[in-house]
Amino acid sequence: MEIVHLGSGSRGNAAMVRTEETTILIDCGFSMRQIERRLAMVDARPGDLDAILVTHHHGDHGKSARAAAKKWDVEIHANFETCARLGLDPVNQCRVFESLERRDLGPDLSMLPIPIPHDDAENVAFVLNGPDGRAGFMTDLGEPTEELIKHMSGCQHISVEANYDVNRLFGNLKYPQTLKDRIHGRGGHLSNRQTAMMLDRLVHDNLDSIVLCHLSSENNAPHLAESEVLCQIDEEFKGEIQISKQEGPEFTHWLGQRAAEPLRWA
Ligand SMILES: [Zn+2]
Ligand SMILES: [Zn+2]
Repeated sequence: MEIVHLGSGSRGNAAMVRTEETTILIDCGFSMRQIERRLAMVDARPGDLDAILVTHHHGDHGKSARAAAKKWDVEIHANFETCARLGLDPVNQCRVFESLERRDLGPDLSMLPIPIPHDDAENVAFVLNGPDGRAGFMTDLGEPTEELIKHMSGCQHISVEANYDVNRLFGNLKYPQTLKDRIHGRGGHLSNRQTAMMLDRLVHDNLDSIVLCHLSSENNAPHLAESEVLCQIDEEFKGEIQISKQEGPEFTHWLGQRAAEPLRWA
């Protein structure tokens, strides 16, 4: 299983996952042109896509889902709320899933959606199951739930948001208190600290790679996120950490391999 983060942050998110027989996107939060351009960097085309999974309806995740369904003739998979709020017809334009409903996306790839708390959205995380193991993807959640930890346990790859540094967020003079409270709250985003604590529970000998994503450009920095996580898990974690930035793709992960492969233009 090949995992490529096409880019991640508050201005757009999309990741491509490719196995021998199946190619999918998780989220579709860039313009169609951007997605097409970024896919081309890893020799993929929209026509290759078997499915687009949408975590939730916020623009930075679902912006182009409707247009993609039409123009690229690709199946959109989302839950009912997300589908409705993206303006997709739940019968003809979307394959609606229920939480915890395992579904095949191709002959060698299946997914499991797990509900996660996020303001005004029915957000889900995904565990993808391929021929060489499992990879977990979770972003935009105020806090991890026990159910989420349970399903993410045992994954060889984990992509997880590390949205903000607590000191930077609360010291940010441009943000009103209400916004700070919302980001920090149960329906907001994960802080570096929360991400580190959760990863501490998910580390095992075969966790090869972690990608930290959706870093706030205002309230976080790659070195803060990485150091907070490493400080927590460094002793047990034997794999590698990468950070997916807004502009991508920069690297490819192959499930079962520790080192990410840098893309030549990155
Ligand atoms: Zn987001
Ligand atoms: Zn969101």
